This record gives sequence, structure tokens and C-alpha cells, in this order.
Amino acid sequence: MGCGGQALQAQSSLLLTPSPALYNLPALQLAQQLCGLSGMDQVFFGSTGAEANEGAIKLARKWGRLHRAGAHEIITFEYGFHGRNLATMAASGKPGWDQLFAPRMEGFAKARLNDLGSVKALLNERTVAIMLEPVQGEAGVRPATPAFLQALRALCDEQGLLLIFDEVQTGCGRLGTLFGFQHFGVRPDILTLGKGLGGGVPISAVLAQAHCSVFEHGDQGGTYAGNPLMCAVSLAVLAQLSQPEFLAQVRSLGQQLRRGLVMLSAQHGLGEVRGAGLLWALELGCDHAPDLVRACRERGLLLNAARPHCLRFMPRLNSTAEEIEQGLGILGAALASQPALGMAA
Ligand SMILES: *Cc1c(COP(=O)(O)O)cnc(C)c1O
Repeated sequence: MGCGGQALQAQSSLLLTPSPALYNLPALQLAQQLCGLSGMDQVFFGSTGAEANEGAIKLARKWGRLHRAGAHEIITFEYGFHGRNLATMAASGKPGWDQLFAPRMEGFAKARLNDLGSVKALLNERTVAIMLEPVQGEAGVRPATPAFLQALRALCDEQGLLLIFDEVQTGCGRLGTLFGFQHFGVRPDILTLGKGLGGGVPISAVLAQAHCSVFEHGDQGGTYAGNPLMCAVSLAVLAQLSQPEFLAQVRSLGQQLRRGLVMLSAQHGLGEVRGAGLLWALELGCDHAPDLVRACRERGLLLNAARPHCLRFMPRLNSTAEEIEQGLGILGAALASQPALGMAA
């Protein structure tokens, strides 16, 4: 059992879910840890990534009402992914999602990643924030460039806008730094976390700097927000994730994975390998990713076709070097079983 499992067992005999109107010790400890580690000032907990992002959107809109004369539009990005509730679907830029569940929530203009001109073209007096994933995960692991994120930071400072990073996928060690923004050296005003934050249990968080922490009691909440059971697990997970040796191991495994993918790509005439930490994509140059996912699964390796032409690799952060090698071996065998692949590239 991992550290999270032991914490789950221990907390389960103490207290599960008291009223969310009351503070509880694991939630306070976790909030303190997260603020200390991230340099942010306040935390609000939720259960899912979508809920954290919805909280970030509400926070930005409220800040806009209080400090920017009602500005409420948030510049988001083509191919971005922020979750599956109505606000975060509108914030997402997944092709086809603008038609689903109409009418779509307003106020989420779409710019292009790594194209500062496309962001500037959308600015107007209603703009309150810019929101993005530092590495677009569902889009097929498309990283923002450090220069682009730095330019967004400068633009936000100059225009008085909030910079929101959705780190539900890139946070919590995934990029080889505890938070993705540390990998890029750009600090957001609002940061959301999910997925790895619980190491497998449902917990998410919105973190904000003091200058935009404008929620009052009752603005945001939920029955399970900050429940001690999940917070106790997250505390144990975070204690391990934040160890410098653990993060160094993530980076080293990531380089091992990258080298293996680059080799396979060359062998089979495939495309680009991109990513960081333990989040990588292999571009195939053709739409065979679902076939490869199936061929790998039959051989005992679970992969994801983020796009029809691209495979995404997100091994668990505490993988071993042997497991990475084994995974690469299975992928190699699956690629060899699909001789049509390289031809289309
Ligand atoms: C998974 C994900 C979400 C949604 O999280 P849920 O817990 O599924 O609601 C939001 N943003 C990003 C970047 C994600 O990868």
C-alpha cells in the first residue's frame, strides 16, 4: 500500500465528511503545505478538476466585477481542455464542443497557443483574465513555450489582467517540478490542481494570490469541499511528491522515456516526440493511434490516443526504470505489428 493508502486507512477511522461549513485539521494542514510550496496565498478545495476550474472562473469574474468595472471575458485557447461542466466546456477549445449542450456559456474567446498576436487581437475592455494549460494535455501534449508564457505574464501585468494556469494535468510533479509553472519560471495569479493532487482519490484545489483572493463565505463551496478524508490522503501524497529526490527521479525516468520514444520514432519513421517530466507525446504522422492503443493493450500496456495521430504517455510518477523499459519494449512490439505505420508518415 502506498503512503496515500495508509493515510486513507488512518483518517477513515477518525473523521470522513463533517459539515463543509467547518474547518478541519487535514484541510488546514494541506492548505498551509500547498501555499508554502507554491508561494500562493489562499486555497479553496474541491473534488474534481472541472470544479477547481469553475472556481477559478468564478474568482476571476468576481475580481473583474470588483476591480475592473465588470470585466468578465476570459481569453482561452483552441484545443484547450478544462473539464466537463458547462463553464469549463465553454472554456475548453475541443473541436465540436461549441455545438454540444447549447446554449454555450458566453465569455470565453479563443486564441492560439504560442501566438501572442492572436491573444492581443482578442483584448478589449471586458477582458479580465487569460486562462491556459502550460502544456495542453488532451490536445496531445502541446507545450506552451517559456517565451510565450513570459509574454502572457507581461501582458497581464501591463493590462491589469489575471493569469490563470490550469495545472490539473501538469501540476503535482507531472512535469518533473512540483508545479508546472516552476518548470516554465512563470507565476500565475490563479492556479488549479487536481488529478495527481490526490494520488488517485478525488480532490482538487484553486490557489490564488492574495491580490485576487476575493471569495467571501458562501461564494464557492460544496458538501465534499476539503473533506478530511481526501485532504489526509493528499497531505501524504504531497509529502512524497515534494521531495527533491522524488522529483529528480521523475525527471530521470522522463528522459529515459524520451530517449526510448525518440529511438522508436527513428526506427519506424514516425514524427515528433514532445513533452517534459513524465508527460510525453509521440506524433505518428497518420491516424493509427487507436489501432496502436489496442495493440499495446493486448500486450499489457495501457496508453491513450490523445488525438488520432498521436499517442500520449503518462506513466505513474513512482514508476521504476524497469517498468519504463518494459513499456517501451511493448510499444516497440506493437509498432512492429503495424507495418503500415511508417509508410503513411
Ligand atoms: C483532467 C483535466 C481536467 C478535468 O478534471 P476532472 O477531474 O476530470 O474534472 C481539467 N483540466 C485539465 C488540464 C485536465 O487534464
